[in-house]
Amino acid sequence: MFRVVLILAAGLAAMLPAHAQERVRVVASFSILGDFVRNVGGDRVDIATLVGPGGDVHVYTPSPIDAKKVADARLLVVNGLGLEGWLPRLVQSSGSKATVVTATKGITPRDADEDDAHAGGGHAHDHGDGHADPHAWQSVANAKTYVGNIRDALIAADPAGEATYRANAGAYLAKLDALDRDVREAAAKIPESKRKVISTHDAFGYFAAAYRIVFIAPQGVSTESEASARDVAKIITQIRKDKVPAVFLENVTDPRLMQRISAETGAKIGGTLYSDSLTPENGDAPTYIDMVRHNIRTLTGALSG
Ligand SMILES: [Zn+2]
Repeated sequence: MFRVVLILAAGLAAMLPAHAQERVRVVASFSILGDFVRNVGGDRVDIATLVGPGGDVHVYTPSPIDAKKVADARLLVVNGLGLEGWLPRLVQSSGSKATVVTATKGITPRDADEDDAHAGGGHAHDHGDGHADPHAWQSVANAKTYVGNIRDALIAADPAGEATYRANAGAYLAKLDALDRDVREAAAKIPESKRKVISTHDAFGYFAAAYRIVFIAPQGVSTESEASARDVAKIITQIRKDKVPAVFLENVTDPRLMQRISAETGAKIGGTLYSDSLTPENGDAPTYIDMVRHNIRTLTGALSG
């Protein structure tokens, strides 16, 4: 009887993945960062994400479970640039000793008001980071910087895994290079006269700068404040004047505003773009790469021909 138990125990231990006890606990503030960490960390890390698929990272109310996740973390990966306004209080109240990794380190932030892309006046997100636009991940070149920062932080936290992290990051960065090339190629085929579109909130500034498609949004870089009647009226005038062909829904915002603008102007609804969140596994954008591919397919589908 005793021998049977021993054999069973040995069998169970052999079934456990290597380093199961020593996995690095990493918390990512939202789903896109969680995906980057998963790609670089592989099975050396345990990943928890605070704002999951479909959630709005701009306006999030952390739960007690989130506080527990943060308290247990070795690394806390955040976007920065004013995106996670709710995070400092969560970290403080959790008593976490986690190393905070700012994934946008080294990226030149785009000014939220640059080229006056959205029609709105003030922003709700003026505190702390001034007028920085936090959506840097929407340019694939910037995503590579995120990945490099995450790789370096994992190596610092878990030096024994350096070779694994370098290999994983290298393979993923190669995929991002291919993605960037594909998006550039696809975007270049959109006719000049159709390179202006409407999105709900101003989340595509980095995408616009990288791939030369102009985005106009009634809502600013945060979803905290709603678009004003004046902002919406300005957008409607602009759609008519510039003959903007399509407006796009977003997974993190209420579709009704865009439906109203479409009905009033005749600009068609081109589909849903994923700006700030991935989808669950069975959705259109369960990973960052899927998200970018979905977005460019949706854009070219609505703007070509
Ligand atoms: Zn956003």
